[in-house]
Amino acid sequence: MYQAPRGTADILPQEQAYWRYVEEKAARICQLYGYERIDFPAFEDAGLFHRSVGEGTDVVDKEMYTFEDRGGSHLALVPEGTASVCRAYVQHGLHNLQQPVKLYYFTSVFRYDRPQAGRYRQHHQFGYEAIGDADPALDAEVIDMAWQFYRSLGLTRLALHLNSIGCKACRPNYLTVLKEYYAKQGGQLCPDCNTRAARNTLRLLDCKKQSCQTIAAAAPKSIDFLCADCAEHFNLLQKYLGLLSIPFALNHRLVRGLDYYARTVFEIQPEEEGGQSTLGGGGRYDGLIEELGGNPTPAIGMATGMERIIINLKKYNISVPPLPGTRVFLAYLGDEARNEIIKLGSMLRQSGIEVIEAFGSKSLKGQMRHANTLGVRYAVIIGDDEVKNGTAVFRDMTSAQQETVSLARLPELLK
Ligand code: AMP
Repeated sequence: MYQAPRGTADILPQEQAYWRYVEEKAARICQLYGYERIDFPAFEDAGLFHRSVGEGTDVVDKEMYTFEDRGGSHLALVPEGTASVCRAYVQHGLHNLQQPVKLYYFTSVFRYDRPQAGRYRQHHQFGYEAIGDADPALDAEVIDMAWQFYRSLGLTRLALHLNSIGCKACRPNYLTVLKEYYAKQGGQLCPDCNTRAARNTLRLLDCKKQSCQTIAAAAPKSIDFLCADCAEHFNLLQKYLGLLSIPFALNHRLVRGLDYYARTVFEIQPEEEGGQSTLGGGGRYDGLIEELGGNPTPAIGMATGMERIIINLKKYNISVPPLPGTRVFLAYLGDEARNEIIKLGSMLRQSGIEVIEAFGSKSLKGQMRHANTLGVRYAVIIGDDEVKNGTAVFRDMTSAQQETVSLARLPELLK
């Protein structure tokens, strides 16, 4: 028997109400903050991610699904959304539009991760990007939008972690000091951190191993090495978050896994859990558009995992509205009635009424049982007598009351 590949999942009909709920809240929040939707391909030139997410990151080095297609192109299933949005921004000359250009997306994300609860090889993200402005008020708005989005879903017990990792000008100084600090830790680092030490020193700070965490906690902090511009930017951001009454915790170990970040980085986590269950995160990536061949363009974005959100909705027993059901079930007795039902079903649907028809040779009792399990509001039953008279039995499934009505009246009654 075939199974869905490890780390992937089917989203069955009974789950869809959660997905629809989150998607609708996401689309609404985007409308409130002036974002427009963009869709991009499920695969891209693999080089795009080497260039943006960066060599030496787990996402590129260990997790990317890459393949060569039949034409010899080297492609990758998208391992995140920001690079694709920026590629589209450059490719379509969106710098010609009023800046910042605000775009949101839903995408499948593919990462060859070790599957566990809340961690999949294909998951889904809702993300948004504001490209073309460096104002820290935009950072505050992007964070506020995430915060309000979770609140609109009913998720309130959240913690916002914030950090600034500086820019091209000040980060090298910080990295030198950080490297020196880690060089002094000798053999105490885990094997992963030992290999990361030279290539991606920042990442040492967010290692999840207990022994490395103690070392990271005492490490020099990026905010102590910010240049004047970055320090001013970060101060203003904190001031604006205060104006918005959004509580945050400075977390000097928050660096995010991808290379393109600069200045602001943030993550939002359920209050009582650690970084493993992060709901969403983002940050500034002021150098990325230029790296991809565009003009120097400041930008900031955020992404959140749909599955993680739904796990939390369930955990906190947040009920979601059911999807609209089907209004009417059509039952029949005999061949003539069957013909009538086929025509009636089509006529009702064309008048905008949702219909499920009975099929096969079930008894009327069996058909009614079927209608009951579907939870439809009404049943319409046609037998030989009704065929002769051009009528139908119209049954309210909740009250079990029924009456005989003319076929012509049915659409109006059902509406
Ligand atoms: P990232 O692109 O790594 O910043 O991830 C953004 C969000 O996507 C995270 O905060 C999670 O909610 C979600 N996410 C990331 N990786 C996975 C995964 N492997 N499985 C499920 N959700 C994930």
